[in-house]
Amino acid sequence: MPKSSPPSAPEKAKTTRGRCLCRTIEYAFTGEPLWTAHCHCESCRRATSSAFATYVGVGLDQFHYLKGEPTGYVSSPGVTRYFCPKCGSPLAFVGDRWPGEIHLYAGSLDNPDAIEPRGHVHAAEQLRWADLHDELPRYATLSKDGSPIRRGPKTKA
Ligand SMILES: [Zn+2]
Ligand SMILES: [Zn+2]
Repeated sequence: MPKSSPPSAPEKAKTTRGRCLCRTIEYAFTGEPLWTAHCHCESCRRATSSAFATYVGVGLDQFHYLKGEPTGYVSSPGVTRYFCPKCGSPLAFVGDRWPGEIHLYAGSLDNPDAIEPRGHVHAAEQLRWADLHDELPRYATLSKDGSPIRRGPKTKA
């Protein structure tokens, strides 16, 4: 059946940019993230030397480096973590369990406030003192591995 309406003019996709601390590496992705989440697992904690890591998952087809190339470190089988070889900023995570995706660290975005975290993963490994007061779902491991163990913080004020 022929389409009755003419194809809409291609919308200019939104571009989101990020960079490392020293600006050796800059990246951009177009469109909306596939997902966003805080990860409380020990590996992400150590890789970022932070209480938890906030990720922005995007498709590799949405993503490109504008400047520089990060160094990859295979942190466990099928998982590569990317960082700036000059300043050391952690920038991205690529894992075999997420084919076709790259997971960017929200802290490396030009404007981290522009994204909206949707949940907490690996909440079973969450630090006692890193208990965020949002009402988002908390998953013991990953959202694809089961229902949330709770919504909202462990300790209600
Ligand atoms: Zn750098
Ligand atoms: Zn993690």
